[in-house]
Amino acid sequence: MIDRDCIFCKIAGGDIPSSTVYEDEQFRVLLDLSPATKGHALILPKQHYANIFEIDENILRDLIVLAKKVASAMKETLNCDGVNIVQNNGEAAGQTVFHFHMHIIPRYKDDGQVIGWEPH
Ligand code: 5GP
Ligand code: ZN
Repeated sequence: MIDRDCIFCKIAGGDIPSSTVYEDEQFRVLLDLSPATKGHALILPKQHYANIFEIDENILRDLIVLAKKVASAMKETLNCDGVNIVQNNGEAAGQTVFHFHMHIIPRYKDDGQVIGWEPH
């Protein structure tokens, strides 16, 4: 299903241009508009699911395999020192766009970023 009011549906479907680094029938991988680090990418399923609670499990399986490929490609091409994989669900968890997406964030020694959940 596609949600006509959802910006990530439009981006994933190619109706809005984006800095796409990979695309197949199910997914689009693009650079984040406000990157936390150089090469910060998002994986979007082309079908609309708001969050992890809604996403089809078969699509999720394919998505995590793709996440591994993207992370490996980053290691090769960006020569990063590590990779964060982050996926927010719900406003309370920091989700701002309510179309399921996975952040793949290359990390560089001493990049100074603080990403994701922090213990209190
Ligand atoms: P969330 O906080 O929902 O997990 O992440 C949403 C992410 O989408 C943010 O990192 C934000 O910078 C990114 N983003 C929001 N709108 C756009 C857009 O129109 N294009 C791209 N490439 N990224 C976007
Ligand atoms: Zn959507």
